[in-house]
Amino acid sequence: EVITVQELANRMAEKATDAIRVLMKMGVMATINENLDQDTAEIVVTELGHTPRRVSEADVEIGLVGEQDDPADQQPRPPVVTIMGHVDHGKTSLLDALRSTDVASGEAGGITQHIGAYQVNLPSGARITFLDTPGHEAFTQMRARGASVTDIVVLVVAADDGIKPQTIEAINHAKAAKVPMIIAINKIDTPGANPERVRQELLQHDVQVEAMGGDVLDVEVSALKRTNLDKLEDAIILQSEVLELKANPNRAAEGVVVEAKLEKGRGPVATVLVARGTLRVGDIVVAGGEWGKVRALIDERGQQLQEAGPARPVEILGLNGAPSAGDAFSVVESEARAREVCSYRQQQIRKRRQFVAPTSIEGMFTQLKEKKAEDFPVVIKGDVQGSVEAIVQSLAKIGGDDIKARVLHAAAGGITETDVTLANASGALIIGFNVRANKQAREAAERDGVAIKYYSVIYSLVDEVKAAMAGQLGPVI
Ligand code: GDP
Repeated sequence: EVITVQELANRMAEKATDAIRVLMKMGVMATINENLDQDTAEIVVTELGHTPRRVSEADVEIGLVGEQDDPADQQPRPPVVTIMGHVDHGKTSLLDALRSTDVASGEAGGITQHIGAYQVNLPSGARITFLDTPGHEAFTQMRARGASVTDIVVLVVAADDGIKPQTIEAINHAKAAKVPMIIAINKIDTPGANPERVRQELLQHDVQVEAMGGDVLDVEVSALKRTNLDKLEDAIILQSEVLELKANPNRAAEGVVVEAKLEKGRGPVATVLVARGTLRVGDIVVAGGEWGKVRALIDERGQQLQEAGPARPVEILGLNGAPSAGDAFSVVESEARAREVCSYRQQQIRKRRQFVAPTSIEGMFTQLKEKKAEDFPVVIKGDVQGSVEAIVQSLAKIGGDDIKARVLHAAAGGITETDVTLANASGALIIGFNVRANKQAREAAERDGVAIKYYSVIYSLVDEVKAAMAGQLGPVI
């Protein structure tokens, strides 16, 4: 573990020149970009009158996956819902329509601000938080960054159009994330609406709604006519009761950034979703690589809040910079601690950028073996549906008890950025069969360290996967 003079000074809130002066006294001639080892760094820290504390990974990697609270402290919390589906099937319209079902809007004014998420109050007193960015890109990108904020996916399918490529993508993204789905069969007001056909088609993609003998809830709605929105909300509440969503409101707040930007006159503004604890005005917050003292909390009605509890989306004013969507945030005890954590995180962010992915199947297996993984996740894109199916079937036949190929998504068409995001979120290999990745996908793969392998002959693909499995894991045919 090394640290530059500049970073060390930042963490202590001291001038770099003062640190350099101490180093000179020790006989070390250093520039601000000089790397110091831990022992030297500790001497500098002590000399400048601070108490050295080595920051460990566990200390700062706080987020939604942090340590669990005592079950006795947990209280029920509202569900967080993401809406997904094919383009033009009505995601945005549904989000707008659901916004208007809020019963608390009367006196407080309606949900008028787009802050990245909003919470509706139902007549029953229950509440639901909706992420205001529809589509699976945002969902999967957040997940790729380790932030699993969504409890339930509402999959919108237009009753007059049925299952389309992005519907299938959304299904696969939700499945890969192991997030339960509720189907909103939309546009039932249209003459061409055929909800029954939607249920049938879902069956072909392993989504069994209740009427088909499965346990996936489905609701026929019209976002345009605002039909059955209450039924959809009931289904969401029912599903969330099954999930037994809970959080401890009585602790320092932690959560995830869902949106952040620099605004004229307001400075950096971050919308966060509190995962546990209660966030208050005056708290010192670290969000991604930024920190600040909470100057104000503002909700989706434009109202100032004094505090925000679990599953509450709220805008934070007072950060010194805009973090990224998907960053974890947490309240810390002091400004010094905030600086320390931030500087550590910025270092981690830089390191992550330098990470080079294994670009061979063998490399992936080595990693999977180290992680003791039981499946080998793949995303398959091919020139025609027939070859895609043939590859899926061939891969299903190889592998043994210790490891199996798991197909996250398989479809005809070129490799897109969405495929890379999905693969990145699940640590998957992308296989291109007679297709290539487009420019955005190639850049994303390089940036995120996602491996893409191209093939034009099925048996060489199968042979290579087989050989890699055998080589790394012993014969497994
Ligand atoms: P998105 O791309 O999934 O966000 O879809 P939009 O919400 O933008 O809707 C696409 C189009 O479908 C728009 O012209 C909407 O007015 C229309 N639309 C959405 N919901 C309904 C509905 O329930 N009934 C009808 N008839 N049209 C709808």
